[in-house]
Amino acid sequence: MKICVLPGDGIGVEIMAQAVRVLKALDLKCELENALLGGCAVDATGSPFPEVTQKLAKEADAVLLGAVGGPKWDVLPREQRPERGLLGIRKHLGLFANLRPAVLYPELANASTLKPEVVAGLDIMIVRELTGDIYFGQPRGIEMRDVDGSKQRVGFNTMIYSETEIRRIGRVAFDAARRRNKKLCSVDKMNVLETTQLWRDVMIELSADYPDVELSHLLVDNAAMQLVRNPKQFDVMVTGNMFGDILSDEASMLTGSIGMLPSASLDENNKGMYEPCHGSAPDIAGKNLANPLATILSVAMMLRYTFALEERAQQIESAVKKVLAQGYRTGDIYEPGTTRVGTKEMGDAVLAAL
Ligand code: NAD
Repeated sequence: MKICVLPGDGIGVEIMAQAVRVLKALDLKCELENALLGGCAVDATGSPFPEVTQKLAKEADAVLLGAVGGPKWDVLPREQRPERGLLGIRKHLGLFANLRPAVLYPELANASTLKPEVVAGLDIMIVRELTGDIYFGQPRGIEMRDVDGSKQRVGFNTMIYSETEIRRIGRVAFDAARRRNKKLCSVDKMNVLETTQLWRDVMIELSADYPDVELSHLLVDNAAMQLVRNPKQFDVMVTGNMFGDILSDEASMLTGSIGMLPSASLDENNKGMYEPCHGSAPDIAGKNLANPLATILSVAMMLRYTFALEERAQQIESAVKKVLAQGYRTGDIYEPGTTRVGTKEMGDAVLAAL
């Protein structure tokens, strides 16, 4: 098992240190190689995604990423900004499938803005296509055109999916549903958009290969409503790049605790990059305040999806549940009556629970 570790910037360094301690405690045969991505890479090499990192990431079976970015680099030209490193590595590794679980541990039910009975125990997964759709379709642009006899600026983008692209993200989603509660909801806008009519057709064709998974469909506007009305009706949801961008953020906010949410981005061979959903949190960086659990849970996703070590993944997830049940909380999830701990102490607690 070759793992490329990219702590990144801000709290990335602190949360990754705890995630690596947890990984090492499992005593698996793995080789860890550290490299630079983001602002730290700009400082050291002038590029947010230097060649050495490109090579290590390509050679590894999986990449663990902390977070990148910070105000220090916001003044740089766009191509040198840390976020370019993030887009660069996703493209470099051909990561087309983004898996974002939204889990609300019963102990944290008050963190959500929704009523506890609506969200307590929530455990859903959004599978988002990451490399196609209107975000990448050509032609695109803003240009002068004649509209009703007057010259004016017109903006345009192209929503496009080939059936190959739909089928490969569909397979990832059906496989994910198979590992969970065997329910998959595909989200589209087939009543208006031909691209998503094809999306629905291909999902239906694929379902013949997954008779054990119950496939349903929702239009995206209804899906957005259902996610806040009764999110626990879902198990896995699959959708395109733009709808997935919006719905995955909506789903993560149901939990109210950004420091708890891991994610995975996979290629065709289940090689993946695993990272917390949050950013580099410059406001709390270097103060031992960051919640490392999203990154620790990203290690669990890596063991499950890239290395097929389901039991080891569950071992980490159970340790996190235990630590929460014991009442340990970093500042972002703190409530009176619980024990406030720092980043390192949260790592200690997870190790003890393991
Ligand atoms: P952010 O997620 O870094 O922070 C938003 C808020 O959540 C802050 O108040 C922060 O303190 C808090 N927070 C985030 N993670 C936390 C954790 N683990 N524990 C406790 N509190 C946590 O988003 P932002 O402030 O909009 O962005 C900061 C920087 O991060 C920017 O440079 C942005 O570009 C970058 N960013 C990077 C990624 C990534 O690396 N994938 C994602 C989003 C933003």
